[in-house]
Amino acid sequence: MIIVYSIEDLKKELSLIKESIGFVPTMGYLHNGHISLIEKSVKENKKTVCSIFVNPTQFGENEDLEKYPKDIENDINMLKKANCDIVFIPKTSDIYKENKVFVDILGFSDCLCGKKRPGHFKGVLTIVCKLFNIVRPDRAYFGEKDYQQYIIIKKMVKDLNFDIDIRIGDIIREFDGLAMSSRNSYLNEEERKKAVFLYDLLCYAKKNAYMGQKRIELENKIEKYIIEKIDCNIITKDYANIRDGIDLELKEFISENSRLFLAFFVGKIRLIDNGRLL
Ligand code: AMP
Repeated sequence: MIIVYSIEDLKKELSLIKESIGFVPTMGYLHNGHISLIEKSVKENKKTVCSIFVNPTQFGENEDLEKYPKDIENDINMLKKANCDIVFIPKTSDIYKENKVFVDILGFSDCLCGKKRPGHFKGVLTIVCKLFNIVRPDRAYFGEKDYQQYIIIKKMVKDLNFDIDIRIGDIIREFDGLAMSSRNSYLNEEERKKAVFLYDLLCYAKKNAYMGQKRIELENKIEKYIIEKIDCNIITKDYANIRDGIDLELKEFISENSRLFLAFFVGKIRLIDNGRLL
């Protein structure tokens, strides 16, 4: 596996590749969720590029940019084992040198995490757009775990005419159902145990959903479940919304596209999850 630290060096390496390139952008502190995307790319492309870059423009002022977890050595070992071909670890100053142009989206980002984290998706779209232009992949891989991000990136690729196939990978979970996340490492023992609440809530919603059901009816049930089961000392709700998985709109009735989107603070750590209802 080749490790490159500058755009220039990456471009040199990429110019030698004539076959298909799969790309997996990450912020590092890799876990099996990331690795599942690398493995998918390795299967579907001749070469796989992974980037590790903690993108400052997608963090709000009071978020965890400064203390975002890092373990580059372990990341590199995991990527080697997964047969990744190139890992790109750029410096912030290299990526955002005198940057004045940003990419943003109308609609799609005014709900869920877009509403709760103003500016977040502008930062995400800007970095993904930059990385796409640097790497020029044939296919790029994103996790279902960040489903709104996946939808927004697909829309950017369509509207800005990128010739890149955006693919989605399943959510990889811990033994008890908690979605893997670099942020899980912040949780203390008790918080970690309680964090499974998000998955339990998803399972409860799935069990209680049926085709043609009024969305409001299911949302009311979900609210009741939250009030009854949540441990208020440790967990607080940021949102729990049912939206359509294609256009992220609110629909009156539950259909095969309906998804439950969750964001909860466990202690001070904000965790997200989502899943289809049918
Ligand atoms: P991040 O490093 O958090 O920016 O994530 C990089 C990519 O890995 C994104 O496309 C995420 O959606 C994806 N990802 C994160 N957690 C998981 C997971 N548990 N299962 C599958 N993909 C994931």
